[in-house]
Amino acid sequence: MNRQAAVPAGTRYAELLEKNRRYLWNPFTQMQEYLREEPLIIERGEGVRLIDVNGRAYYDGNASVWLNVHGHNRKELNDAIQEQLGKIAHSTLLGMANVPAIELAERLVHITPEGLEKVFYSDSGAESVEIGLKMAFLYWKHRGRPEKNTFLSMKNAYHGDTVGAVSVGGIDVFHSAFDSLLFPTEKVTYPHPYRFPGTEAECAQHCLDELERKLQEKGDRIAGLIVEPLVQGAGGIITMPDGFLKETERLCRQYDVLLLTDEVATGFGRTGTMFACDREGVKPDILMAAKGITGGYLPIAVTLTKDEIYEAFLGDYAEVKTFFHGHSYTGNQLGCAVALANLDLFEQERLLDHIQESDSFLHTAFRPIEDLSHVGEVRRRGLMAGVELVKDKDEKTPYSYEELIGVRVCRRAKELGLITRPLGNVITFLPPLCATQEELSAMLTILHRAIREVTER
Ligand SMILES: *Cc1c(COP(=O)(O)O)cnc(C)c1O
Repeated sequence: MNRQAAVPAGTRYAELLEKNRRYLWNPFTQMQEYLREEPLIIERGEGVRLIDVNGRAYYDGNASVWLNVHGHNRKELNDAIQEQLGKIAHSTLLGMANVPAIELAERLVHITPEGLEKVFYSDSGAESVEIGLKMAFLYWKHRGRPEKNTFLSMKNAYHGDTVGAVSVGGIDVFHSAFDSLLFPTEKVTYPHPYRFPGTEAECAQHCLDELERKLQEKGDRIAGLIVEPLVQGAGGIITMPDGFLKETERLCRQYDVLLLTDEVATGFGRTGTMFACDREGVKPDILMAAKGITGGYLPIAVTLTKDEIYEAFLGDYAEVKTFFHGHSYTGNQLGCAVALANLDLFEQERLLDHIQESDSFLHTAFRPIEDLSHVGEVRRRGLMAGVELVKDKDEKTPYSYEELIGVRVCRRAKELGLITRPLGNVITFLPPLCATQEELSAMLTILHRAIREVTER
């Protein structure tokens, strides 16, 4: 659609666009394509909407890439940052501490699965994963089992973009170019019933058998299994069959392999419970969280672990068991302060109840989309949904990469006032968790229309 329309010269948008093109390199963006487009330039936000410099409002249909919880420009969150700012913005956590970092650590230990007793801060999901991997690796070393030095991860997994996180990742388009740079890992299949020739239960069993064989064969060399619990996010919003996570936990225990759950996307209510692990009462050895932790405001991430793992690092300086890892902004006060306010709002707004209600609402509200002739499957846990588009519904024939079907649908949705991003042929839908039924409904109406117009032309 009319992507080359002239931008009126001399406007604020035109000036900013010029400078974007000249100075900015955007992430996960083909800049050659971007240079020809007229991208949104956001100026402010209001609840579930983003407003661009031209004053046009859009629904934030992917919560600014899976982050936003209580909406944009929330007074309570703004106030928390301002109040902290009046005291101090940042001081280090290396060899000393600060008030909100301590208070937040206590709160997190109380709301995360039982057994997780220590909090290690960082600034992004990828870093929280790096930290989890290093902790697990060193834990076995300190315990006198250095041969447990490799990791088991899932095919098609996404754990972030730093080199360690990419090593346990498995999305070919993002990751395979870096192959020679990565440390080797063992891989098993994440269950994907829609693409499995058999029932969901057979799919789950097939994957569990593969996992058990791998653990039998290599378990004594594996430090830990890292997994995206309940939903494999960037891999295409692929939802685990019920009970799969619990069985995975059981197998890890049986073969003495640590369980690392990457809750960067699923944590903080996204899938309907505070953490995805809660749904099946899974108690990981290490849990990573980020995205929703500050309500989508500031970059804070955490890696939580058990006392047993923490204690393996204790010793005299001379024993060199110190965990030599940290970042300049680890435990940043502004971030921790807004994370605390985020948790307060979870309680005040009874947000988990609200998410449960949204969950049942979406169950019916998604039907018209499911019925579209090029929608193969809608996969969803709570407010984390993916709509897989297919060329032929009965045969489940995928669209080819060149057709850019996901990109085209999202482009149309944007014109209609909804922002989201595709993962290949899967359209993601992860609105801010606070979205009302009316707002959800308005967003899905746009999504429905965009899919229909682009796929049924
Ligand atoms: C987004 C994401 C990450 C990476 O988090 P960043 O903050 O972008 O580094 C890691 N794991 C999962 C499951 C994610 O969805």
